[in-house]
Amino acid sequence: MDIINEIKFTMPSLSVNESTARAAVSSFLVHADPTVEELSDIRTAVSEAVTNAIVHGYRGTHGTVEIAVKLLANREIYIRIKDKGCGISDVAQAMEPLFTTAPEEERSGLGFSVMESFMDKLTVKSRVNKGTVVTMRKKLADHV
Ligand code: ATP
Ligand code: MG
Repeated sequence: MDIINEIKFTMPSLSVNESTARAAVSSFLVHADPTVEELSDIRTAVSEAVTNAIVHGYRGTHGTVEIAVKLLANREIYIRIKDKGCGISDVAQAMEPLFTTAPEEERSGLGFSVMESFMDKLTVKSRVNKGTVVTMRKKLADHV
């Protein structure tokens, strides 16, 4: 991984930190001169992953969410969002569109689908009672 620039930070699992994460990632990415659409896609994907960590991972408890963002040499953005929450027993099922364990909260089960469609690559690794790591990549368009 040929890293040009990177940030890593941790935040407590407070819902206000969904926007903190979006803002921090945006201000880092601006230096890579993304298009408005690229920036918006990445912000949305980060939001979905951080929200999941807070509302599902740490449901009924508190913990920390770690976010690492890297700008790679080929204008690829690498993002990793990690929690030490409850984990996911069946990742393939969780990633199916419309699957949710919180329908009563008007969750639509589309978070992973959004991450998948807005980013080029999505990987989810999880262990029950250990936590979840979501890794995403997106290649920014080359400038002429
Ligand atoms: P939406 O994102 O549309 O509001 P949702 O969060 O339920 O609804 P997804 O984001 O696709 O939908 O997640 C699907 C399911 O995967 C969740 O309902 C939850 O059970 C599980 N999940 C996702 N992320 C985590 C996490 N970090 N820790 C524990 N469980 C998770
Ligand atoms: Mg979600």
